[in-house]
Amino acid sequence: MKALVLQQYNKLEYQDVPDPRPGPGDVLIQVQACGICGSDVHGMDGSSGRRIPPVIMGHEASGVIVEMGREVSGWHTGDRVTFDSTIYCGRCYFCQRGATNLCDNRRVLGVSCGEYRQDGAFADYVVVPQHILYRLPDDLSFEQATMVEALSIALHAVGRTPITLNDTALVVGSGMIGLLIIQALRVAGCGRILAVDLDQSRLALARTLGADEVLNSQSDDVLKRVRQCTSERGADATFEVVGMTPTLSLATECVRKGGTLTLVGNLTPRTEFMHQSVVTRELTLYGSCGSRGEYPACLDMIARGKIQVAPMISAIAPVSEGASWFDRLYRREPGLMKVILTPAS
Ligand SMILES: [Zn+2]
Ligand SMILES: [Zn+2]
Repeated sequence: MKALVLQQYNKLEYQDVPDPRPGPGDVLIQVQACGICGSDVHGMDGSSGRRIPPVIMGHEASGVIVEMGREVSGWHTGDRVTFDSTIYCGRCYFCQRGATNLCDNRRVLGVSCGEYRQDGAFADYVVVPQHILYRLPDDLSFEQATMVEALSIALHAVGRTPITLNDTALVVGSGMIGLLIIQALRVAGCGRILAVDLDQSRLALARTLGADEVLNSQSDDVLKRVRQCTSERGADATFEVVGMTPTLSLATECVRKGGTLTLVGNLTPRTEFMHQSVVTRELTLYGSCGSRGEYPACLDMIARGKIQVAPMISAIAPVSEGASWFDRLYRREPGLMKVILTPAS
């Protein structure tokens, strides 16, 4: 088959590779669409240590089952499916408690990190175990389905956070996950949602997708504005969707006493933490990592139009042209958000 292979750091090649073969509990999927994730773009230069070449990246995918291992049941060839980005074991302490995102033996598709290499879906075919499959609703396109992973991260973060009807929420960082969190907060019944970013085009999108107020942290006094909106109390819930000290500080400052701070962004391993502010104001912190079990709800919400994903899709292009799209994303071309690769025609 053909695949987009990371041959060396920063060097992607569309080339022939051996066909993958499904094991007894696996299915072989003909890939119809696969989104380029930020972690692929940041990882391909070696900086994350999680894309050690050679590897086929890609974990936000959808396709059609074309072959099944002998132990697979309940699925048929021709089924339209998507799958979890993470292969969890189902047997460890965490999996048995339902915390599959915290699995001790988790393998992420399209990741190669020293402990394992699990080829992903920037290819004609990909093999995945049956237990991570999800059926696509009939009216959901393969391209829309690639957005389910990102949405599941947003839904998980909102689900971790206690939200009361009519709460005020602040979202710091309005990239793709932030924009999906804003939409999920709207569904969750927030009364007022404020979005923060440095990029005006993202803020414009945030407003379209449900933010009541958008604030540019470079030119607006975010803390002052949040206080004005909340009788000087601060936001009930804030979401940090960047992962750096300045944005974490801002998110912390803007929470009301007794409020919650949910950490989703993961850009840097260490940040400076406002210890006293958290202690003396009794804030509750939630870390949120990936998702567990949110896929069916996400697929349903996209299919019913309760969550919009189309505004975040910047381009759909053949996987044979993947290298140049990776390059454009790596160079942070303005206005590019999600790029989806489809089979070469
Ligand atoms: Zn991803
Ligand atoms: Zn496990």
